[in-house]
Amino acid sequence: MSFSVSVVIPCYNEQDNIGSIYSKLTEVLASYEQYELLFVDDGSSDLTLQKIISLAETDIRIHYIALSRNFGHQQALKAGLDHASGDCVISLDADLQHPPSLIPELIEKWQQGYDVVNTIRGELKSLPLLKRITSRLFYKSINRLSSVEINAGMADFRLLDRKVVDALKHFNENYLFLRGLIPWLGFNQTAVNFQPAERNSGSTKYRFSRMLKLGLDGVTSFSNKPLYLSIFIGSMIAAVAFLYGLYAVYIHFFTESALPGWTSITASVLFIGGIQLIMLGIIGIYLGKLFIENKRRPNYLIRRKNF
Ligand code: UDP
Ligand code: MG
Repeated sequence: MSFSVSVVIPCYNEQDNIGSIYSKLTEVLASYEQYELLFVDDGSSDLTLQKIISLAETDIRIHYIALSRNFGHQQALKAGLDHASGDCVISLDADLQHPPSLIPELIEKWQQGYDVVNTIRGELKSLPLLKRITSRLFYKSINRLSSVEINAGMADFRLLDRKVVDALKHFNENYLFLRGLIPWLGFNQTAVNFQPAERNSGSTKYRFSRMLKLGLDGVTSFSNKPLYLSIFIGSMIAAVAFLYGLYAVYIHFFTESALPGWTSITASVLFIGGIQLIMLGIIGIYLGKLFIENKRRPNYLIRRKNF
């Protein structure tokens, strides 16, 4: 039986990786009859798009989409998935951290009947401590706070069957988080392990602030538990305040020591004010999301493509 494979590669300022990822991929895919390499240029400001275009002139199996600006990794991936034509679609990073040599194993699993083949990456030894800790914290809290279970090493390197790719077309959320969405979808899923390589060239696009944003987005897109937090913390504080009130009444009527309480009043006002601000912030995040999603703007815009 013959089938076609699409490989989707989101690229943002990866000019020095395009050549190597292309040659690795063609090497691995040589034994497959039909395949396409779909590069998505996510508004790069370097020569990434030019490199892709000149490669596409030499190889008709290269398709590309250039987004009108930088829309972010998740939206670039989505753009690729929406335009891929294969019977199965594989997504992987341009920086060679996702080894193309794993592709035959993914395809094998797919042929055994799995609709989604996820990959779980082992920990990168050279990863900065901060990134390792934040990433662990992120998955801990997302799993605690939401109803989907996301494996800590889940990478955006996976194979999806055509019917899953088609199902994903119905998801037009602006706060897309595929690592959370894919387990939620159901279907017949499995996972394979891999050891990530070092970034081939260039530097990571996920700096701390960006990871924090992804974390907050991930949690607030999949859970409304943080909203209940305010009720919980609020009632705890109310209970403590009530006890303290009883104590104050007792002091007033049964002892001689009158109102030296400036410190405690100031402290409690500040404390409660702080808690209220945090809770307002949480509510604000959700409200902001409702606002953005409500506009129903497209997730990405295409400036140019070759198919
Ligand atoms: N990427 C993208 N748009 C962005 C940021 C990243 O398309 O705004 C691509 C990037 O080119 C790479 C992949 O997403 O192919 C993963 O990014 P990166 O390697 O920087 O993330 P890390 O591996 O450090 O988590
Ligand atoms: Mg990377």
